[in-house]
Amino acid sequence: MVLIDRYSRQTLFPGIGEQGQQKLNNSSLAIIGCGALGTVIATSLVRAGVGRVKIIDRDFIEYHNLQRQVIFNEDDIRDELPKAIAAERHLKKVNSSIEIEGIVADVNYANIERLVAGADLILDGLDNMETRLLINDVSLKHHIPWIYGGAIASYGMTMNIIPGETACFRCFQVSPTGNGIALTCDTAGVIGPAPFIIGSLQATEAMKILLGSPEINRELIMIDVWRGEFNHFGVGNHQDCPACHGNYEFLEAKFGTRTTSLCGQNAVQVLNPEAGAVSLQRLAAHLGPLGEVGYNEFMLRFMVDNHQMVIFPDGRAIVKNTNDEALARGLYAKYIGT
Ligand SMILES: [Zn+2]
Repeated sequence: MVLIDRYSRQTLFPGIGEQGQQKLNNSSLAIIGCGALGTVIATSLVRAGVGRVKIIDRDFIEYHNLQRQVIFNEDDIRDELPKAIAAERHLKKVNSSIEIEGIVADVNYANIERLVAGADLILDGLDNMETRLLINDVSLKHHIPWIYGGAIASYGMTMNIIPGETACFRCFQVSPTGNGIALTCDTAGVIGPAPFIIGSLQATEAMKILLGSPEINRELIMIDVWRGEFNHFGVGNHQDCPACHGNYEFLEAKFGTRTTSLCGQNAVQVLNPEAGAVSLQRLAAHLGPLGEVGYNEFMLRFMVDNHQMVIFPDGRAIVKNTNDEALARGLYAKYIGT
């Protein structure tokens, strides 16, 4: 009875119905990236009753996120919570009848197959092309559909990528018409309604894909919320696409990117695959005499040389107030070690 009451308004909708609700409840999702898009997608699909929702994000919450990242609040910043943990906590209060798991991790070639194992669908809530190309590879290799989404300034775009049926994301990149499609991170800013709409479209398409609906969208959708424009474009497979030919260059790259400048954040992430589990308590004791340190079970903050370092238990660090990858690597080597 509880199940019926909770979802009564959407089971009345003919596209879903009681059987569709059961299908949603038996489905599993991986949402990669929990910023503006990811929070809209997650809140929509958790409320809709998708049975298992995994939310994967590498970052923590800052004040400039609150303008558009709809499930976070000021308490999360005071509590120094990573996005994935805050999302899990908030969404478990929204729907306790499903499984919700927040995972604090950088998604990379070494862990993506494990992270998406068992998912029926992958949702892109990311802000960078490299990880999207990695999702694309894993999607094609394991026949898991994924939904691309991106938003910047007042515009955004989304497309369903269904292995064996639609063009893949890499097809865009090798296509001469693809130049306008690759949204790059810059100083363009973003207004909330752009990712709200793109995230809502992604959540809607997610329901249709999980339900096996005949009305799944097979085109690239582009919007401009400021101008009130909404357009569809056909995207064909590109004959030179490596991924469509089973050549998964991003997944099979046997080298990890050790440092990554984070999109529009004036910050650099440093990975240390050899670090293993790091005791934040021990690290705090070690760094305490060298600068200002604060930590909880999820992350440690360290202020030194006008930079703020945030270190996670997997040995990963985010160095704030710089885009200089060499500097970030240097600070990491100096204070955290290798
Ligand atoms: Zn392709």
